Amino acid sequence: MPAVLRVALPVPLPALFDYLPPAVGEAGVGARVLVPFGRQRLVGVVVAIDAEAAVESRRLKQALRLLDDDALLDPELMQTLAWAADYWLGAPGEAYANALPLALREPKPLPPIGDEYWSLTLAGRSAHDAGSRRGGSKALLTLLVDGALSAQELTERQPGWREAARRLASAGLLERSERAPADRALPASSAPQLNDEQQQAVAVVGAALGDYQPFLLDGVTGSGKTEVYLALIEQVLAQGRQALLLVPEIGLAPQTVRRLRQRLGVIVEVLHSSLSEGDRARAWLRARAGSARVILGTRSAVFTPLPQAGLIIVDEEHDSAYKQQEGFRYHARDLALVRARALGVPVLLGSGTPSLESLANAAAGRYRTLHLRARPGAIRPPQVQIVDMRMQRLQHGMSPALLAAVADTVARGEQALVFRNRRGYAPVLLCHSCGWHAGCPHCDRPLTLHAGRRQLICHHCDHRQRMPQVCPVCGVGDLKPQGQGTERLEEALVAQFPQVPVLRVDRETTRRRDAFEQLLAQLQDDAPAILVGTQMLAKGHDLPNLTLVAIVGVDEGLHSIDFRAEERLAQLVVQVAGRAGRARKPGRVLLQTHQPEHPLLRNLLARGYAAAAADLLDERRKIQLPPYSHQVLLRADAPQREHVDTFLRDARALLPELDALQIAGPMQAPMPLRAGRQRGQLLLESTQRSVLRAMLRPWQHALFALPSARRVRWSLDVDPIDLY
Ligand code: ADP
Ligand code: ZN
Ligand code: ZN
Repeated sequence: MPAVLRVALPVPLPALFDYLPPAVGEAGVGARVLVPFGRQRLVGVVVAIDAEAAVESRRLKQALRLLDDDALLDPELMQTLAWAADYWLGAPGEAYANALPLALREPKPLPPIGDEYWSLTLAGRSAHDAGSRRGGSKALLTLLVDGALSAQELTERQPGWREAARRLASAGLLERSERAPADRALPASSAPQLNDEQQQAVAVVGAALGDYQPFLLDGVTGSGKTEVYLALIEQVLAQGRQALLLVPEIGLAPQTVRRLRQRLGVIVEVLHSSLSEGDRARAWLRARAGSARVILGTRSAVFTPLPQAGLIIVDEEHDSAYKQQEGFRYHARDLALVRARALGVPVLLGSGTPSLESLANAAAGRYRTLHLRARPGAIRPPQVQIVDMRMQRLQHGMSPALLAAVADTVARGEQALVFRNRRGYAPVLLCHSCGWHAGCPHCDRPLTLHAGRRQLICHHCDHRQRMPQVCPVCGVGDLKPQGQGTERLEEALVAQFPQVPVLRVDRETTRRRDAFEQLLAQLQDDAPAILVGTQMLAKGHDLPNLTLVAIVGVDEGLHSIDFRAEERLAQLVVQVAGRAGRARKPGRVLLQTHQPEHPLLRNLLARGYAAAAADLLDERRKIQLPPYSHQVLLRADAPQREHVDTFLRDARALLPELDALQIAGPMQAPMPLRAGRQRGQLLLESTQRSVLRAMLRPWQHALFALPSARRVRWSLDVDPIDLY
C-alpha cells in the first residue's frame, strides 16, 4: 500500500496537499519535493507521511522529484513552523516560504557552502597597476591586491561589491573559488571590564544556558547591552554552541558585524533581505550545518536552523519591524520566544524602551528583568528640555531657541541632529486663496510635496504628479507648502548655516543599498555638521561628536487614533534623544511642541521612559486594551465599497455570540481609500486568548467558503500592531 505525502506548498490556502511519493528516492519529513500543481510545478516541503493511505489515494498525483535526500528542515524547525502557521493563521506553505531563502525554493540541488573566495587574475593585477578602472571596480581591485578575500569579508569592507565583481569577472580580471568552511581563528579584540550591572546580567543569563528562560534586558542606548550580548555569545561559543542575534533593521548591521567579529574572532553570518539570494542561501545552510556559529539577521532570520542552539537575542525588541505586515503576519520577537522554548535555550530581549507587551510579561513574572542603569564610562544622560512653540516666530517650523542651540553646537565644532519623522518637503500643499489642497486621487489623503518643490507624491500608493503652477480650483496662483518635511528643514538649515555641512538621512537619500552607512561615514568625528533626518537616525552608527538632538515636531503622535501611538512616540523620543552625548561629551536634547503641558511628554521628561510606560500600561489595563486583551483584525478591500461591506457583514454573521468576545464593526478602515481600493475591517477582541483561538480556524475556513469573499481581498491579522 503506497504512502501519501502531505506537502506544504507556497500557495495562500490553509491546507496541505497530498501526493504519491516520487518514483525515485525515499522522501522523508522535512525534505523538499517538486510536485505538479494545476498547470505549474511547485517546490513544497513534506510535512507528514501517511503510511496508512486511504483507497482514493490512487487518484492522487505523484510527486515529480525528490530534491533532498536528507531533511532540509529539522524536526524542531518543522514543529515551530507548524506552530507559527497555526498561531498567525497563515497557510502552512507560506510559513515555509518565509523560512526558506528564495534560492532554496527552486527545484535545484543545494549550493555548496564552502567559503566563497575572490582573487585577482594576472590580468586583474595588471588592470589594478594600470589604474584603468573607476568607482566600485577600482575599489574592489584595490581590496584584492593583497590577496584573496572571502565573500563575507568583501561584504563587510565594500558593501554592494557583487555588481563590480560580476563585471570584473566577466572581463577576466577576477576569479572565484570555493574553500571548505574553516574555523579560522580570527584575532579577537579584548572586551572592556564590565561594570557591576553588566556582570550581573551576564552571570544570570549565563547560568541559564542550557535551559529555556526568557529575560528582558532593560537598558537605554549606550548602557552597554551589546557588551552583555558579546560576553554571553563568548560563553555560548566556548560551549561549542550557536548564537542567533536578531536586529530590527540592517542599517544596524555593518557596524554590528564588525564589532562582533572583532570581539569574538569568528565569522559572523549575516542574514537579511538585501543580501544576494545566493549569499542568503549559503548563510542559511551554514547555520544548518552548524558551521555558522554566530548568526546576525533581521526579522526572517528567526527561521534560521540552529542544530546546536545556545542562545537567542532579540535586540531592540520593541521595534515594529519585527512584525511582518503582509502575507504571513508573524512577529519575530514572539516567535523567538517560541523557538527558544522548543530549543531549550535562554532568550534575551534587549531594549532601552521595552514594548508594553514585554513590560507586562515581566511584571507578571513571565520574564526576568535585568537592568542596566548606569552608562559605562560615567557618561551623563543628556539634558532634555521642552521648547514651547506657541506664539514663537517659526522659521520653517524651527523656533529661535532651536536654531540658537544648533548655532551654538556647530560653533563649538560639534554636531547637531535635527529630527523630523516626515520625509519630503512639506506634507500638504494648500491654496492660500480658496483652501484647496492637493490630494491623492486614489487614497483620499494629502499628497506630499517633494524634490525641492517640483513633485507631489502619495506616501500611501506612490502616485506621482507634477506640482501645479496655479490652483486648479480658483486659478489664483498662491499655492503654499504647509508643514515641514526633512527636505524643507535641510533647505532652511543650508541657508542658515552655509559653512556647515548639512546631511539629510531619510528613505530618499538612502534608497541605494548601504547608502546609509556611506552617508554617515562622510561625517568626520571631530568636525561640525548638521544631520537632518527621520527615524532612520534614531539608531545605528555611533556618532561621538553628536551633542545636540533637536526634535522638531512630535505633536502628530499625541493626537493619533491608534492606541499605540503614545507608546511609539515615547520610544522614538527616548531613542532619538539617546543619540546625543554618547562619547565623552555631554549631550543636550530639545523637544519642540505646541503642547508643553501634555502629560505624556511631561512624564517622559520628568520621570523617564519606565514611569511613562507604567502609566500607559495602567491605562491599557483600565480600558482592557492589549496586552490586557487580545485582538484579531479582519481586513478587506475592493474597488467597490459595497463588496467590502457585504463581505464584512457576512463574516460578522458567521461569528458566534459569546460574552467573552467583543466585536467592533464592520467599519471603515482608518484610511478608507487606499490605492484606489475601498477598505474596511472587523475587529475581534477578548481578554481570553483561548476564546479567540477556539473560533479562529473554523471562522477562517468559513470565510474562504463565502461567495462574497471572492469579490474582495481579505486577510486576518492576529495580534495586529496597527489598525490601519
Ligand atoms: P548599547 O548596546 O546598550 O547601546 P554598547 O554596548 O554599545 O551599549 O555600549 C556603548 C559604548 O560603551 C560602547 O562604545 C561600548 O564599547 C562602551 N562600553 C560598554 N560597556 C563598557 C564598560 N563596561 N566599560 C567601558 N566601556 C564600555
Ligand atoms: Zn485655490
Ligand atoms: Zn495615494
